[in-house]
Amino acid sequence: MADCLFCRIIRGEVPSKQVYEDEHTFAFDDINPQAPTHVLVIPKKHIAGLKEAEAGDAELIGRCHLAAAHIARQRSIEDGYRTVLNVGPRAGQSVFHLHVHLIGGRTLQWPPG
Ligand code: 5GP
Ligand code: ZN
Repeated sequence: MADCLFCRIIRGEVPSKQVYEDEHTFAFDDINPQAPTHVLVIPKKHIAGLKEAEAGDAELIGRCHLAAAHIARQRSIEDGYRTVLNVGPRAGQSVFHLHVHLIGGRTLQWPPG
């Protein structure tokens, strides 16, 4: 999508600190980290968010989570991390290209705010 921030990051038009890439997914450090590890994992295909996803996107959404698990393993934070999708403005979604937050490297509280 031409004017989507995360599509522009995938194309390299907006700089990011890339941490992972495969055929279907791309991952980079969040610009405003909330924990020692705060990575965003996104599908290369533009999907606005979880509520806009369709049945055919199921594998892609699963791949984003598996990429997050791979990154967590690489970073040795498997004693506790969280994968989060904020859905809709009231949950704090501010970028409308589906993204999985991978947050870890510190003790996480429950429930999230
Ligand atoms: P949301 O609030 O939509 O769930 O998450 C969007 C995330 O994208 C936020 O955590 C925010 O810090 C991050 N973000 C926004 N703009 C940029 C950017 O230009 N580069 C990077 N790396 N992260 C960004
Ligand atoms: Zn996009």
